[in-house]
Amino acid sequence: MRDPRYDILFEPVRIGPVTTKNRFYQVPHCNGMGYRDATALATMRAVKAEGGWGVVCTEQVEIHPTGDIAPFIELRNWDESDVAMLARIAEATHAKGALAGLQLAHNGMNAPNLYSREIPIGPVDLPVFSIFNDPVQARAMDKEDIRNLRRWHRNAALRGKRAGYDLVYVYAGKLFGGAMFFLSRRFNTRSDEYGGSLENRARLLKELIEETKDAVGDTMAVACRISVDELIGEEGLHAAEAREVIAHLAELPDLWDLTLSSWDNDSQTSRFADEGYQEPFVTGIKPLTSKPVVGVGRLTSPDYMVKLIRSGVLDLIGAARPSIADPFLPNKIKEGRIDDIRECIGCNMCVAGDHMMSPSRCTQNPSFGEEWRRGWHPERISRATSRSSVLVVGAGPAGLEAAMMLGRRGYEVTLAEKSRALGGRLVAERRLPGLSAWGRVADYREGQISKLANVAVYRESELTAEDILSFGCDHAVIATGSTWRRDGVARYLLKPISVAPGAEVLTPDDVMGGARPRGKRVVIYDDDHYYMGGVLAELLVAEGRDVTLVTPAADVSNWMRNTMEQFRVQARLLELGVKIITAHGMTEIGTEAVQAACVFTGRRVTVEGDATVLVTARLPRNGLLKDVNTLATIGASLKSITVIGDAEAPGTIAAAVFAGRRYAEELEVARDEDAPLFRREVTGLAEGPLPWRTAG
Ligand code: ADP
Ligand code: SF4
Repeated sequence: MRDPRYDILFEPVRIGPVTTKNRFYQVPHCNGMGYRDATALATMRAVKAEGGWGVVCTEQVEIHPTGDIAPFIELRNWDESDVAMLARIAEATHAKGALAGLQLAHNGMNAPNLYSREIPIGPVDLPVFSIFNDPVQARAMDKEDIRNLRRWHRNAALRGKRAGYDLVYVYAGKLFGGAMFFLSRRFNTRSDEYGGSLENRARLLKELIEETKDAVGDTMAVACRISVDELIGEEGLHAAEAREVIAHLAELPDLWDLTLSSWDNDSQTSRFADEGYQEPFVTGIKPLTSKPVVGVGRLTSPDYMVKLIRSGVLDLIGAARPSIADPFLPNKIKEGRIDDIRECIGCNMCVAGDHMMSPSRCTQNPSFGEEWRRGWHPERISRATSRSSVLVVGAGPAGLEAAMMLGRRGYEVTLAEKSRALGGRLVAERRLPGLSAWGRVADYREGQISKLANVAVYRESELTAEDILSFGCDHAVIATGSTWRRDGVARYLLKPISVAPGAEVLTPDDVMGGARPRGKRVVIYDDDHYYMGGVLAELLVAEGRDVTLVTPAADVSNWMRNTMEQFRVQARLLELGVKIITAHGMTEIGTEAVQAACVFTGRRVTVEGDATVLVTARLPRNGLLKDVNTLATIGASLKSITVIGDAEAPGTIAAAVFAGRRYAEELEVARDEDAPLFRREVTGLAEGPLPWRTAG
């Protein structure tokens, strides 16, 4: 039963000519699938609609080849040939009961046009503002360009209408929507009627909204997505100015969708921002307009959502990541199943997928992106066809997910864990600076498992191969995790590092287990490049040690460029006084210093330190499998033994959760060994005359 406190979240809201059934609004979000994986993407949106979101939007949809954001894979609405793909997504969304929103975007100076080879366009002549520093400049738009852009936008909206959408965006946010470059004083230094005063800088946005309304506004709602702050002070579009723009255009669109700019500020991680971090930036905007206002901020708590509505901050609860982590969040609140919500942990693994041009992965929701490819569902799994029993060894992310999903399939499951606490690596990692929200991965699964009568959990139960064989289960899963290496081997060094006698070497496992360097000066060597090196530097410096971080990469926590955190990590470490030495690989560890070599020249430097923490590779803890295999051949009693997660190959928490889910999905499901591993969409081949077949 739903708590009546949450009734307000289920009120319908009128948005121009359409009405959403509730206040749950899945704002546009990228997913790394786009035009390459359109049916996978459509199915993902359908699952969100099924989970109760009133509005489900697309990601940004390019309206013209001059706003081509390749190599990133979003959707396209360049011409009539794109309508069928867009229609498939709208149809999938409607089929499960949500309104379908289309986020039109002309990326302007953000688009290097690598695919189309068109000259980028923007308010002025400047290099394109893309993350790869492409050697490409945008050309200042003349009046004809502006007229063209308006026409392209109008045509794209009309195609969106033909594709069946209910709501269409005019985008001036996050430095993706090209109209934002016109709004921004630092980019727009024009002297004509599109530059100078705020009214002039907002002229293009105003025209786009008016013309979109004129084209499709009779049946479609027109939303304006706008940045409420770039967080760079007076230089950028700042709070006061954004409010002036909103006040100026207040009643023009049917809905205001508020974001911080750019994307790294909009989608901040839990390491740097708490749930609701956007509230101060969106408070006070609603009184400027009578139109509904949607905002975001990793909103997962229904009480907080109610507060945002009741206090008049927002009309609609916007979510991208919370809707990825739990597509059924609205329905769970509706059904009074608050404990069942799979809360986003704010890790931005999903964002990383888009940045790497591959389908997004979610740490919390392993079915995300797999709804069509593998037929996985965030809430459902097929029933077991046998009454087999399964022993899961190790309760880290992989073992917990496997046990939970096997339990849901109906198997008799035993989960045995060496430690008292469940969670595996997360038991220690959630205590590291900024990572406490990551503990939700373990908490959610532990909570769900406690509701399953057919899953028995044994803590403080370190199993041996003999235990596994004598247990009498049909299947055993080894999910025993991994151990950080102590010999420096990773990418830079492929052979163990030379360590002087008496030199103190620690691993992340030692530090997380409570060990601390004896001396004050610590060198952290990071050849892992994800969060561990930076997080340990933060921990040790906070405890009063002098920390030097050495890495062969160009910057610290280099891979976190993909989660949009790298610059924040480096800024934080610099502010804390951590000394950073980049582009150096460690070659020797002494008692009072280490030697490192420049990755370009090979020149050696000496870095003083009393102890070294090696954040390098990990070793899979898979000894149990080897022991079982030497003790017995798999036979009548034990039908299978399988290693999953970090015990198979150390990776991310998201990969371990995926491995657990995959094991549970595939157990005792017959498949042809040579059948494709998952469904994929193959580009339709062109029809018509083929040049090499024609004579001449
Ligand atoms: P993953 O990320 O693959 O889930 P983790 O390292 O997070 O791996 O978790 C592995 C878990 O397995 C840890 O909680 C560890 O205590 C547990 N474990 C390791 N060896 C055994 C064993 N022999 N018996 C029971 N539990 C074990
Ligand atoms: Fe949230 Fe991480 Fe999932 Fe993204 S990947 S939705 S940030 S839990």
